[in-house]
Amino acid sequence: MQHARSGTPEVATPRMTARVLAVFYAFGGVTGLLAVLGSAPGTGRRWAITALGISALLGAVVLVRWGPHWPRAAFHVPVAGATGLVGAAAALATDPLTALVLASIIAFVAVDAFFFFRPVVGLAHLSVAVLGVSTVLVLRGDVPVPTVLALDTVVIALGTVTRDLAWRASRASRDPLTGLANRRGFDDALQELLAAAERRAEPLSAALLDLDHFKQINDTDGHEAGDRVLVRVADAWGAELPPAAVLARHGGDEFALLLPGLTGPVALAEVERLTALHPGIGVSCGVAQHIPGETKAQLMRRADAALYVAKDGGRDRCALDGAAGDPLATELAAAVAAGQLGVAFQPVVELAGNRVIGVEALARWDHPGRGAVPPDEFIALAEQHDLITPLGELVLRTSLVQLTALRETTGVQLVLGINVSVHELADPDYPQRVAALLAEFGWPADHVVVEVTETQLESDAAVVRQNLETLMRLGLIVAADDFGTGYSSLSRLDVLPVQHLKLDTSFIASVTTSPRRAQLLASIVALADNLGMGLVAEGVETVEQDAELRRLGVLLAQGWLYGRPMAVTELAVWLADRSVDGAFSVAG
Ligand code: C2E
Ligand code: CA
Ligand code: CA
Repeated sequence: MQHARSGTPEVATPRMTARVLAVFYAFGGVTGLLAVLGSAPGTGRRWAITALGISALLGAVVLVRWGPHWPRAAFHVPVAGATGLVGAAAALATDPLTALVLASIIAFVAVDAFFFFRPVVGLAHLSVAVLGVSTVLVLRGDVPVPTVLALDTVVIALGTVTRDLAWRASRASRDPLTGLANRRGFDDALQELLAAAERRAEPLSAALLDLDHFKQINDTDGHEAGDRVLVRVADAWGAELPPAAVLARHGGDEFALLLPGLTGPVALAEVERLTALHPGIGVSCGVAQHIPGETKAQLMRRADAALYVAKDGGRDRCALDGAAGDPLATELAAAVAAGQLGVAFQPVVELAGNRVIGVEALARWDHPGRGAVPPDEFIALAEQHDLITPLGELVLRTSLVQLTALRETTGVQLVLGINVSVHELADPDYPQRVAALLAEFGWPADHVVVEVTETQLESDAAVVRQNLETLMRLGLIVAADDFGTGYSSLSRLDVLPVQHLKLDTSFIASVTTSPRRAQLLASIVALADNLGMGLVAEGVETVEQDAELRRLGVLLAQGWLYGRPMAVTELAVWLADRSVDGAFSVAG
């Protein structure tokens, strides 16, 4: 496919080319048939022109049916064929007026030629068409030469204007360096191909390709060297693509590819073949197959999530997003979009005062057929299928709606704990979005704890770290969740961007049975104290565990002993039952 430097108008995808040609063939055929009706008698010739008209109509059918799958070069045949048909019809016309009308169909060729092909090739088609048809008219002897020239003028003017318009249209949607479609051109193509895929119930896959360590090439060898690499890659891929594919430069060193008709696994194989063309340049890529009903943005987000997985897996590899093959993921996407996820709140208590100081929000999904899906299961699914950001936002919004209503009736401002995945934190806008939501509900930032699991905190992505620091600057509290299950963070505790530690359930479970565990916990309490960090014990189920935590000086705790995760209505009752002089308390 000649997307690259040829100057071929970007608007002319094979699908588009076939469609425009089919329209011209159909209208050309109809024009021919009408012209015959109005022409002077001459049976044999009139039948011959009728036959040409019908051939043109059949040509239109062929173009619609098979044209979109042809390589671009194949379109020279119908364009040149049109010149032949028009020339023959004009030669056979029984009177000069009909000859002129038939010859005027050549205008279609002028438009086609510049719309589909680069200017030089377009000019060649136009010259052959104009010279051929003019010769036919002049040789007839019954059409005055100035009249022929008048027709030529109109046709040449149309061709020139089409060339300019096609050039302008393509420039706006093309990347000047590689000649590929730019983001805008890609977006237009995606819109068109997505609609076609839905209409025909055909598969469509999208891929994002990212050159590994491109920044290094730029930094060490200069921008020209970087540009040369981009052009080389674009040319090589462009030459090897299937005819209907659309390749675009998505920005920087990222390319985007649309593969109509290909399922995810086939697209993955195709992309792997392409990336193997440059053994010297590592390429990471993410592939996603379109799910019916999904928007452009959702499809590209899943391709992006797959790209993220490929990069996470060590780069220079391709990953396929699995959503298309997983009905549960599709249902989860629909449930998140429809706001059908619930939130359960589990109390967090202050041991010394036996008071409830806050709640942790825990997502709940009641699947219509399967019942409650375990959070560990659907959260993992959401992370794999790029649903975790909308899910997290839904949980936060629902929590704020329900807890601000509760605050109005109780007058007590609780601390809200939310679970956040690094995939959410990978978005540079995350802190601003959270801040905007808190402002919307008048919820104080210092009454929000952002819980990130210890293992995820070890992600070395700079943006994650920056976001955590921004959240802290905004006044939120950042906590390392499931602390004690990771391995390296104890030694790096002083550098992790966190203010609270949430000791993992498994840790608390053994605290009364293992003296070494109890000793370790005592050390962690001292360590947290020294570093000025808050400590929350999670999963407290027995009075023995509670007593041990108090003895060791743990300040905050959470667990079934105090309260299970519950719906906001239950929470209201639970809190009311424990109200002592306006302060909430629990029996230790
Ligand atoms: P987590 O953040 O460690 O949440 C605490 C889990 O421990 C919850 O499980 C809670 O129900 C459970 N738990 C509470 N008290 C006790 C106890 O005394 N004993 C025992 N054995 N378990 C207790 P749940 O609700 O199944 O959530 C599982 C995990 O799913 C959470 O672990 C969290 O990592 C994740 N999750 C839940 N909601 C969200 C969310 O909105 N966003 C994200 N990113 N993750 C979430
Ligand atoms: Ca948590
Ligand atoms: Ca936890």
